[in-house]
Amino acid sequence: MRNTWDVIVIGLGAMGSAALWQLSRRGARVLGIEQGSIGHALGSSHGGSRIFRMAYFEHPDYVPLLRRAARGWSEIERASQTRLMNQCGLLYGGMTGSKVIAGVKDSARMYGIALDVVNRRDLGERFPVFAHSCEPMSEYLFEPGAGFVRPERSIRSFVRVAQRSGAHVRERTRVDHWEESGVRVEVHAGGVVETTKQLVICAGPWMAHCAPQFAAPVVNTRQVIGWVSSHDPVSATSYQMPAFFMEREAGEPLYGIPTAHDQDPPYGVKIGIHGDGSVCDPDSIDRRVHAHETQELEAIMQRVAPGAAGPVTASAVCMYTNTPDGDFVIDRVPQSHRVTVAGGFCGHGFKFAPVIGELLAEIALAGSTTLPTGFLKRDRFDRA
Ligand SMILES: Cc1cc2nc3c(=O)[nH]c(=O)nc-3n(C[C@H](O)[C@H](O)[C@H](O)COP(=O)(O)OP(=O)(O)OC[C@H]3O[C@@H](n4cnc5c(N)ncnc54)[C@H](O)[C@@H]3O)c2cc1C
Repeated sequence: MRNTWDVIVIGLGAMGSAALWQLSRRGARVLGIEQGSIGHALGSSHGGSRIFRMAYFEHPDYVPLLRRAARGWSEIERASQTRLMNQCGLLYGGMTGSKVIAGVKDSARMYGIALDVVNRRDLGERFPVFAHSCEPMSEYLFEPGAGFVRPERSIRSFVRVAQRSGAHVRERTRVDHWEESGVRVEVHAGGVVETTKQLVICAGPWMAHCAPQFAAPVVNTRQVIGWVSSHDPVSATSYQMPAFFMEREAGEPLYGIPTAHDQDPPYGVKIGIHGDGSVCDPDSIDRRVHAHETQELEAIMQRVAPGAAGPVTASAVCMYTNTPDGDFVIDRVPQSHRVTVAGGFCGHGFKFAPVIGELLAEIALAGSTTLPTGFLKRDRFDRA
């Protein structure tokens, strides 16, 4: 059977599900194809929570996109009648002049983002779980508007609302390949050939498999996350504890997200090391978490936030898809007017999902976007 669609979206993880929503609300006839189930735990978008922050140390050009994303999060919460955001604030810790501390301050100054300087002597009183921290930070900054968002709930919400607007979805169907021919693109998936005017590829860690033209700039890494059963569980809830992103004297930063009052299991404070993963392939990655990995997380948590430390009682493996410069890559396939790829979200993309969906919908339906995304184009790697 042959169908012709305005747009097909490959991959309904964070970005593909958001694109499906943004396309369907613009009236496009759209099909989403996902190899797993909606909200599955084998890609980059599982684990119950993702930090949302606005004072962006990675690059101030992300801030206008984040403002738009924040609006999108409110819209999808309203449309799906589902709570997705928790504004518990975020504490950054690091050394004066470091990339994180200097970058957070620059973005906050440039865009008027509220940011409190927290003196080290006031830290324990204001945020008791960080009292007696033995990581020697020289500066702490608190962003009250930050917090976290729920990945699986968000993906299910995007898909549900899109389906209500007429989007079609094929779950548990892997796209084998696609080819552009004249004015159409043919997509081969599960023994069926679908034809479409526009193709959007949001394959996350499978990006190099689905869009070989983008293979060279991306590398997947294996990332371990753990849930800490804190000795004082009340202090570790989002009522009392902020999310945090802490540089360390030795090693990559530790981030953490407090327990939410309406948390889906597993329970506890979620922690992980930002960076530090081994290179992996999504189809052969080691998905077991080893004792030495949970022990390392426990030890680092004890140093950074002793008041919320405790044993790691649950853990999971997830994947980052990294570009050489740490910035996303969103662009047409070279020489194509019909195929757009969004990937390389480098362990910090989830919070952007609604705005990435919006710009993918604009590119697919209008040929370009008005959103300021020039710094995310693919040809920056050819020039490097
Ligand atoms: C441990 C961890 C912590 C993170 N923390 C944060 C954070 O705090 N804040 C933040 O903003 N970001 C964070 N991120 C990053 C963020 O989660 C990712 O950037 C984002 O989820 C990437 O979304 P994606 O749509 O590119 O990939 P995914 O959500 O993995 O989606 C890709 C989808 O494509 C499907 N697919 C692939 N190939 C095919 C095919 N051939 N046919 C059909 N379907 C296919 C896959 O099954 C998958 O569902 C974190 C990531 C990890 C791993």
